[in-house]
Amino acid sequence: SKETSRNTYKFFNHHMSEQASKQLSVEQELRKAVERNELVLMYQPQVDLISDQITGVEALVRWQHPSRGLVPPLEFIPLAEETGMIVPIGEWVLRTACRQNVEWQMAGYTPMRVAVNLSAYQFKQSNIVQTVAEILRETGLNPKYLELEITESIAMQNAEQVIQTLEALKLLGIQISIDDFGTGYSSLSYLRNFPIDRLKIDKTFVDNITDSAGDAVIAESIIAMAKSLKLEVIAEGVETKEQYQFLKSSGCHEMQGYFFSKPLPVDRLTSKLSRLSAA
Ligand code: C2E
Ligand code: CA
Ligand code: CA
Ligand code: CA
Repeated sequence: SKETSRNTYKFFNHHMSEQASKQLSVEQELRKAVERNELVLMYQPQVDLISDQITGVEALVRWQHPSRGLVPPLEFIPLAEETGMIVPIGEWVLRTACRQNVEWQMAGYTPMRVAVNLSAYQFKQSNIVQTVAEILRETGLNPKYLELEITESIAMQNAEQVIQTLEALKLLGIQISIDDFGTGYSSLSYLRNFPIDRLKIDKTFVDNITDSAGDAVIAESIIAMAKSLKLEVIAEGVETKEQYQFLKSSGCHEMQGYFFSKPLPVDRLTSKLSRLSAA
């Protein structure tokens, strides 16, 4: 009836404006978060089992909210992407991670990569290559120690433009990895056209390798194919000794996960590096 549709419309409208104002306030809050320096990075080690060294760390952002406490990224990154706030947040993350890596190197620790997550929205910014170049110049980080993680879903969209951007990024001398690999529908033969260095096998496969024959086969074939394409491969979300052993025997020599370490605040990661270099 007319009455119903009007009510529906009213409801919808009301709902929309509520959502819009909520979005606006979140945007303002996120803006303040950057200005007030409320964002923090945690660093999770990436371990190379052949050298038995930490060869990289992934920078993972959190929001140290004055009243809500430590807010995990999944509670604000999607909103930051919707509002465009991911651009200043992403720049802050990139600059902070690069600067921190320079600090570790200046302190004398064995140089390692720092991996930074790049969201689809950031990747699509026309000045993304310039931004990365500027931050490298500003911080003085040797580009080979910066890795950008892009998701498989980015790689699947508008391939021509994605490849162009990746090639321009590679020209800076940085490394590129495909995050959450295996969750999308890209094949390795498709990715062969992409100038990438590393695949990160998604946690969902790692979770099941020791009890699902299917996932074990998928993980094994990703590792084998990646190697034949001369790509590095790293497993993420490794939590148990069984997973670690299975992956190791399948030829995966780089891993990241709670089995080795949770993401750590900078001082705790620094202590870990100190202990390792003393050992
Ligand atoms: P991701 O890039 O796939 O990061 C891995 C996530 O898995 C992290 O969650 C990490 O803490 C968690 N993790 C690592 N090892 C294990 C494990 O063994 N077991 C379990 N259960 N979890 C593990 P986190 O830090 O909450 O980040 C969630 C997601 O938020 C990230 O997923 C990434 O998509 C996004 N994110 C985090 N930081 C940033 C950032 O600076 N920029 C952007 N664009 N996205 C970010
Ligand atoms: Ca990641
Ligand atoms: Ca991931
Ligand atoms: Ca993920």
